[in-house]
Amino acid sequence: MTLPDFSTSIDPVKLDKLAEVAIKVGLQLQQGQDLVLTAPLAAVPLVRLITAHAYRAGAGIVTTFYSDEETTLARYRHGHDDSFDRASNWLYDGMAKAYENGAARLAIAGDNPMLLAEQDPIKVGRANKANSIAYKPALEHISNFDINWNICSYPNPSWAKLVFPDLPIEEAMRRLADAIFAASRVDRDDPIGAWAEHNAELRKRSTWLNDERFSALHFTGPGTDLTVGLADGHEWHGGASTAKNGVTCNPNIPTEEVFTTPHALKVEGHVSSTKPLSHQGTLIDDIQVRFEGGRIVEAKASKGEAVLNKVLDTDEGARRLGEVALVPHSSPISASGVLFYNTLFDENASCHIALGQCYSKCFLDGAALSQEQIKAQGGNSSLIHIDWMIGSDKVDIDGIRADGSKVPVMRKGEWA
Ligand code: ZN
Ligand code: ZN
Repeated sequence: MTLPDFSTSIDPVKLDKLAEVAIKVGLQLQQGQDLVLTAPLAAVPLVRLITAHAYRAGAGIVTTFYSDEETTLARYRHGHDDSFDRASNWLYDGMAKAYENGAARLAIAGDNPMLLAEQDPIKVGRANKANSIAYKPALEHISNFDINWNICSYPNPSWAKLVFPDLPIEEAMRRLADAIFAASRVDRDDPIGAWAEHNAELRKRSTWLNDERFSALHFTGPGTDLTVGLADGHEWHGGASTAKNGVTCNPNIPTEEVFTTPHALKVEGHVSSTKPLSHQGTLIDDIQVRFEGGRIVEAKASKGEAVLNKVLDTDEGARRLGEVALVPHSSPISASGVLFYNTLFDENASCHIALGQCYSKCFLDGAALSQEQIKAQGGNSSLIHIDWMIGSDKVDIDGIRADGSKVPVMRKGEWA
């Protein structure tokens, strides 16, 4: 069997620039540094270019693990029931070991967001949970920012079809590729210079928020009246930042957000999602949740409610927040008007919150804090970290200072 090849509809020059940006900006891959790469099978053209740029930058060994939609589905169709509580621990243990030995990590996103929509949500939930537990030793190195890491993306035909359902597949692939290139700033003459400028702008915003030291943010909008207390000693980040191995990288391409750690016990009120959340093959839409003492006590969704509730039951921290992020409504991704059904893009079109694990780097002197100290300062811990979108041009945000006074942060989705 040969696979249909739609890569010819993708601009090869921009694709090569994306590969170069992933290695030089996304990872700042170091001389002699090994690289662990994961990618969907459809992304082979980008994997090859990234691998070439990696070796030209002096990479040690580049190792790629591919995923394939048909083989994933085969498990749900034919796999033994017991197998859904298991995961390939050996693989994740090996990845964790690679990071401990200094390897960098690059993930190419692009799987069909709806791949598992027709599958039994209970099985999907069990497999996700088993996978989260097995992945933990490797994920900890990422969430603790021990190493330089990056996620970028490549269009899969099934993803392109979801985003542009009315277009012929070649045209849909071209349009999605162009949207990825624009969002990733590789449609410019000097993408590396454009990233330097963008990183400086994000730094300006995070510096302002760090100087203000708000104790909480108050979101108001249709279906939303939410107060998000911020963790003690929280620190805002955005754009490029420095991993514990000393390498300054851009973990997400694209990225438009400045983000920090909420206080796990100090979130009150209700909030409605403003975009659908695509979670491991299921679409969860019109999420409405209510918080009491930082914990979600009520959760509804018009679509995918069963999967949402399963996610919330993953562990104690799954009902609490680990991230709050600000993105202006006029961000290039939002302005494109494209709904990507992919968190990497959609979270950068909108202010968002994340259920689950917090980032230790989002604390002042975070690298020096123990897990106990992070918890004492309000940092949440969980097997999951799931971002979902709560911002729009109808949402206002105020910063609340320790003395109770309010400062406008965003009005109608734009920086005030
Ligand atoms: Zn985020
Ligand atoms: Zn996040």
